[in-house]
Amino acid sequence: MHEVMQRWFDRHAAELVQVSRTLWERPEASEQEHFACRTLSGLMAEHGFTVAALPPAGLDTAFEASWGSGAPHIGFLAEYDALPGLSQETSPRPEPIPGQAFGHGCGHNLLGTGAAGAAIALRAVMEAEGLPGTVYLYGCPSEEVMMGKIIMTQAHVFDHLDAAISWHPGDRNRASEESYQAMLSMEYHFTGKASHASMAPQEGLSALDAVELMDVGVNYLREHVPPGGQIHYVILNGGEKPNIVPEKASVWQFIRANTAADLRRIAARMDDIAAGAALMTGTSYTKKIVTGCNETKIVPALVDVMHQVMTQEVMPPVWSPEEEAFSRRLLESLELRVPEHPLHGGVSAPKGETIDILGSSDLSNVSYVVPTCMLFSACYPMGTPNHTWAVTACAGHSIGQKGMLYAARVMAAIGLRLTRDPVLRQAVRTSFQEALGETRYAPVNI
Ligand SMILES: [Zn+2]
Repeated sequence: MHEVMQRWFDRHAAELVQVSRTLWERPEASEQEHFACRTLSGLMAEHGFTVAALPPAGLDTAFEASWGSGAPHIGFLAEYDALPGLSQETSPRPEPIPGQAFGHGCGHNLLGTGAAGAAIALRAVMEAEGLPGTVYLYGCPSEEVMMGKIIMTQAHVFDHLDAAISWHPGDRNRASEESYQAMLSMEYHFTGKASHASMAPQEGLSALDAVELMDVGVNYLREHVPPGGQIHYVILNGGEKPNIVPEKASVWQFIRANTAADLRRIAARMDDIAAGAALMTGTSYTKKIVTGCNETKIVPALVDVMHQVMTQEVMPPVWSPEEEAFSRRLLESLELRVPEHPLHGGVSAPKGETIDILGSSDLSNVSYVVPTCMLFSACYPMGTPNHTWAVTACAGHSIGQKGMLYAARVMAAIGLRLTRDPVLRQAVRTSFQEALGETRYAPVNI
């Protein structure tokens, strides 16, 4: 690692740990991350970055911090929202913090702070060496509700970047080749006609019947979706009382698929089913698209450079006996297998191909418009499920903090390679265009 970068991390590691812990202590809901937004943008301003609010489509808790001028343009992506129901002490047993509803059960306190550290460390080298270019930290709110980067991508916030670099806390160290699924979140609201269910049922048109018939149709559709396709739903409103024919009823549907094209095919069938349910019941319906994202485009050239950095330049953390003991107790509490060394120490090798995985991320939309990469850094024991109290515990513990510092160093080093090397930037651009092929960005939620 570059000497100036190394020195920057040596001097500022404790500051980054402190910031991540401050965010951990004040977890905030998606769209409400005012404290985290202020804390991280304040950190950037203290380190000489120009901070601007990013208000596209009313994202109050988004920001852009930039330093430098002109090309190349290297962006780091920060997230900082927390999850409900996952309040937890830094304890290896379930122990919610009294009076606290939210918790960083996805480790976004680490994610946001690590990305900030990477941007500042890159700036330190650019300044020391007089390198041309601009480094950005994008504060991307509301990831857990699949909003921030969808809206920001739509507002062309990222278009000028040579690369977008991100990371996520995980249970292993690896450059991500994983493509998250495309996803659509939609509400169908049916309207019928209320009537007394006993005295005048013939006058009523049941919106609940429409919801139930739609769900039956959707459940028959399951067999015929493309491989990887998934459908999940909940009924939002099933009427008021059994003796009133429900005038209003609503169902909230999620669709996921390995590609945006597959997703659109399933969505079109779902719309037909809704129309059929309305026809069968004499009701009408409206559809509201809540949000949606595309699948992730993996850029092999960026995976390669990331893996090189992770194996040749920045070494993964060495875990202390206390951290291993904490991890063993945590896995025991989760009733999971306890390996001799529960914390990942090496770096998993890339497979050399895009791997379709379940779940969705708003990072995917960014990956359609600029070359994007992400690493996973071990921030909790192997096998720990994400979005659990156990992740909240580790996100406030030295285990997560060490994982964060490792990720920050890797991202900063990648940023420096890209900033310095026009040949590498061109190779990344070519690799990105090959990954896109004929596909052009069209957001699935519009
Ligand atoms: Zn997350």
